[in-house]
Order: sequence, then structure tokens, then C-alpha cells
Amino acid sequence: MQSGMVYLVGAGPGDPDLLTIRALRYISLADLVLYDYLVDDRILSFVREGAELVSLGEPYTGRKLKQAEVNERMITAARSGRVVVRLKGGDPHIFGRLNEEIHALKDAGIKYEVVPGITSASAAAQVAGISLTDRQNASAVAMITGHLAFEHDATLPALDFKKFADFQGTLIFYMGIVTIKHWSQALLEGGMDANTNVLIVQNATLSNQKIVRTNLINVEQKIKEENLKSPAIVIVGNV
Ligand code: SAH
Repeated sequence: MQSGMVYLVGAGPGDPDLLTIRALRYISLADLVLYDYLVDDRILSFVREGAELVSLGEPYTGRKLKQAEVNERMITAARSGRVVVRLKGGDPHIFGRLNEEIHALKDAGIKYEVVPGITSASAAAQVAGISLTDRQNASAVAMITGHLAFEHDATLPALDFKKFADFQGTLIFYMGIVTIKHWSQALLEGGMDANTNVLIVQNATLSNQKIVRTNLINVEQKIKEENLKSPAIVIVGNV
């Protein structure tokens, strides 16, 4: 572990047992830890005494620092010789704004290392007792952000959800709860079978974990009935 360096670390789905040994090592040696709202308190307890701990808040509703400010904090701290850990939920490679941070660090000439983590989809599959692939039924997996099913972010390219209706494998939706109506209808309009299995796992691996099984035609109603909220993974397919 080197001073003046930034570690972009995956914290896994929540349960501290699902941290990698490398992640644990870096977290426990860091001088500054900037963490996302999905990182569990039990993981933050590994941060050493005297280290600075900064919460970045919840995206959309409670973001405390803008992306540019997060980048600036990391760069300034690394330049002053501190060891920085940027702790992200799950695997930073999946919907983790990794590129934005890597580009900023590269432009600033700061050395960095990325530590992969267990993504929440793998954890959701494990707690529900399913596989995400299957030799008979699912030879492919798509990881999709449901966030783009709303047209509220005009700066990002739109995703044509209807196209996923013929996908020959498992669809995994991250950030898909709020936009469920939009993307589930798009799949149905695209011709996907209304009886396709849907599995929803909220707070996978945490004490308030909830697992709900339904099908495509009923998923929106079921999410309302069960009062399911983010963070949740939605898995669509016949695995
Ligand atoms: N990099 C993360 C994903 C970040 S996007 C990863 O690899 O898991 C945030 C989304 O991740 C949430 O909206 C939710 O869909 C999912 N998520 C994160 N932690 C979760 C958990 N413990 N249980 C269920 N879903 C989770």
C-alpha cells in the first residue's frame, strides 16, 4: 500500500464477510475514506482510529458532494501524501461511476488501483438460491440500469428497453424499483412472455433483506403491495 495513492474499492453487497481480503487491508490502513450510502456501518468499523471518514450521501436525494468535488477531495488528499480509499457498494466496475473517477485521477497524474467487489446481483442470486446462468435456459446475462427508463436525464443516451424482450438469457436490473412501470411495460410491449419469472431481492445480505417472487405481468403491483424500496436487484428470466 502506497501513500499519495487512491484506492477505488468495492465494498460488496453489505455483509462484511463478503469483502475481499484486499479491500479489508486497504480500508484498515487508509488515512481518508470517502464512502457511498450503500456501504454498511459494520464495514466502516474497519477504518482505523484517527482516519477521516466522509459520507457522500444518497444519490439523487441526498448527495452531499458533487462528482467534481469528490474527485477534488481525492486528488488533494493524494497530493498531500495521504492514502485515500474511495469505497463503493458492490463492485465498482458495475454502475459505480468508475470511469469518471479514473479519468479525473489520470488527468491529475495521481496513481490509483481498483479493487473489484462482489456485485449485489451475485449476492441476490445467492440469497435467493438461484444461478444467474444455466446451461439449458440462460447462456447470457445482461446487467441493466433501470435509472434510464425515466427520461429525466437528458445528458445520457436513452436505452431501448423493448429490445431486451428477446434477450436470450437473464436480465438483471440495478436501480430498477422506481422505474419498474416503465421498463416492465416496455418488456411486455416488446413481446416478452407475461409469465416470465421475476425475482426481487431488497437489501441482499443485510438483516432487513427481503426476497419476493412474482412474474412480469404482476411485478409492478407486487412491488407496491410489498412496499419494496431501493436498494433492490430485480432478476427477470427463467433461471
Ligand atoms: N456497484 C454496485 C451497484 C451500484 S448501483 C454493485 O455492484 O452492486 C446501486 C444499485 O445496486 C441499487 O439501486 C440496487 O439495485 C443495487 N444494490 C446495491 N446493494 C444492494 C443490496 N445489498 N441488495 C440489493 N440491491 C443492491
